[in-house]
Amino acid sequence: MSSNRTHNRAFKKAKQAFFEDGKRLDALDDPAADCWICRGRIDYSVPPGTTDMSHELDHYYPVRDYPDLQDDPAGFRHSHRKCNRERGAGQPKLGLGDVIPAWW
Ligand SMILES: [Zn+2]
Repeated sequence: MSSNRTHNRAFKKAKQAFFEDGKRLDALDDPAADCWICRGRIDYSVPPGTTDMSHELDHYYPVRDYPDLQDDPAGFRHSHRKCNRERGAGQPKLGLGDVIPAWW
C-alpha cells in the first residue's frame, strides 16, 4: 500500500483541533492535557512541534500499523514532541532504551 496521503488534509485539521483542545484543557489544569507517555505537562504556549516540551499528536494506534485510524480522534493522544519521538511507532515502553544497571 503506497500511501494514506489523501488523508493528510483532514488529518492536519484534526491535529490542529486536537492541539486547541489540549490547550483549552491545560488552561483548566485538566490532567487530560498532559503527556500520556510521561504524564508531564505539555508546553501549550508554543506552537506544536517546535520544542522538546511542545505538543505533538501521538497516535495510540501507530499509523504504520493502522493507517485507517490516522484521522480518528479516538486514537489521538497528547504528548511531548520529545516523548513522541522517543516512542516512535512502537508501543509505549517506558524506559525504552534504558540500559539495565550493571550489578557490579
Ligand atoms: Zn512527555
